[in-house]
Parts: sequence; structure tokens; C-alpha cells
Amino acid sequence: MTEVAVAKNSTASTSDLVVLKSVNKHFGALHVLQDIELTITRGEVVVVIGPSGSGKSTLCRTINRLETIDSGEITIDGKPLPQEGRELARLRADVGMVFQSFNLFAHKTVLENVTLGQLKVRKADKKQAEEKARALLDRVGVGTQADKYPAQLSGGQQQRVAIARALAMDPKVMLFDEPTSALDPEMINEVLEVMQQLAQEGMTMVVVTHEMGFARSAANRVVFMADGRIVEEATPDQFFSNPRSDRAKDFLSKIL
Ligand code: ADP
Ligand code: MG
Repeated sequence: MTEVAVAKNSTASTSDLVVLKSVNKHFGALHVLQDIELTITRGEVVVVIGPSGSGKSTLCRTINRLETIDSGEITIDGKPLPQEGRELARLRADVGMVFQSFNLFAHKTVLENVTLGQLKVRKADKKQAEEKARALLDRVGVGTQADKYPAQLSGGQQQRVAIARALAMDPKVMLFDEPTSALDPEMINEVLEVMQQLAQEGMTMVVVTHEMGFARSAANRVVFMADGRIVEEATPDQFFSNPRSDRAKDFLSKIL
């Protein structure tokens, strides 16, 4: 994560990490992503907000090809997303994803959850994979839980394990899709703090969240979606103090 000496918000094209051009996707008659143009630069933290059903999850899922697109182009580090096989597995490792529902492997220990991808996709040595996993678990504050099973952990702990599991792959970018929405209120901050720390260390992040405090403090840019479109993009300061579109004004009036 120290590789990110690149200045945040740099406009040099070489700093572009994730680029979506004219991306369209339908679910049957529903035009869920409409002409999406989005460039995420290295080290940038982009918070995606918008009403339920606006396409935020689908947008995230297209970036690691959990969903295909109908037209347009998505590149990561200048390369189009691979279609299948080992290349696709590597893409999914490069693009770490943390979901609302922690999605840990229930029948594997915490440690095994964090070593599995390293062994299978990165072909890491077992001992080194375990050392790395323990260091990451320490870093997210669950080092003492390594030998337990997910169900023995609180939601906040499970979500921090999910973050460690993604980080174990040395991702180029991390996608978070409402990572705290399923958590009891007292556990939200422990997860947001880990994310805040990652942001400060220069991780490139796309975060779908309703946590506006996090958006204000961690985001370089807020992307507001409605009805499958990016309606507005701004710095958090601009967006929260002076939203331009009626859709954003209406949305903010309901949640703030
Ligand atoms: P958000 O995350 O902003 O709430 P989603 O991306 O989950 O929005 O969903 C956008 C729209 O697409 C919603 O109307 C949802 O019902 C629909 N949708 C999402 N996934 C599917 C799917 N696999 N099949 C059909 N419709 C879907
Ligand atoms: Mg969603």
C-alpha cells in the first residue's frame, strides 16, 4: 500500500486506474446502468451514494465482472476486463470486494479465509500466506480471532476479516458495497475506522455507503447516482453544502 506515492486527484492519464466508458447494462427492460462515464485515479477514494435501486451495487459488480455489461468499456490499469478462467480469478483478486453480507466461508477458520485466495490465486507459500494473514488480521484488530469460525465472531469482526481477506490479495482497488449496512450500530465505527485507515494509506477505494460522515471525511469525490445514471459528481464539501441537481437536493433532504 506504500506504492501510492502518486498524488491524489492527479490528472495525468497514467494515474487512471479504473476507467468506465459509455457503460450500459440492462436487466430485461430495466436500463440499470445508462452511459456511465467514470474514471478513478490511483489513491482516490470515491464514495457512491444515491437512492435504493439506482444501480450502485450493479456498478460495483461490473467492475470485477460479477455482472457483464451490454455496451461500453471497462479497463483496469489500461487493460479490458478478462472474460473467464485464471485471468478472471486474478482480476477478482486485483479488485477486492467487500459486501454488505460479509460472505466469509462459514466452514473455514478466520485464518483459512484469509489464506485461501493467496494459496489458490496468488500461488503463495503456505507459511508466508499465514504470516501475511496474521499480520493483516492484527492490522484490522481481529488478530486474536484467527482460529475461530466466522459464526463465532460479531458482525463487525466478520466484516473486518472480509476486509483482511481482500487485502491479502494485494488488490489494486477495493470496492465496498454498503459494508456497514447489515451491522448493529455499535459495530459500524470499528469497520469505518479500518476503511478510513486504508484511505489514509493511499488505497484506491470505491465505497457505496449511506454513512455521510465517512463520505465527508474520507472521500476525494462523491458520485451521486439516480435511475442508473451518474447525476452529479463533486467534492464532499461541494456536494453536501451545495448540491446542484434537484435529485441530489431531494435525496440529501431525506437523509441529513
Ligand atoms: P442499488 O445498489 O443502488 O440499490 P442495484 O444495483 O442493486 O441498486 O439495483 C438496481 C436495479 O436493478 C434495481 O431496480 C434492482 O431491482 C435491479 N436488479 C439488480 N440486480 C438484478 C438482477 N440480477 N436481475 C434483475 N434486476 C436486478
Ligand atoms: Mg445496493
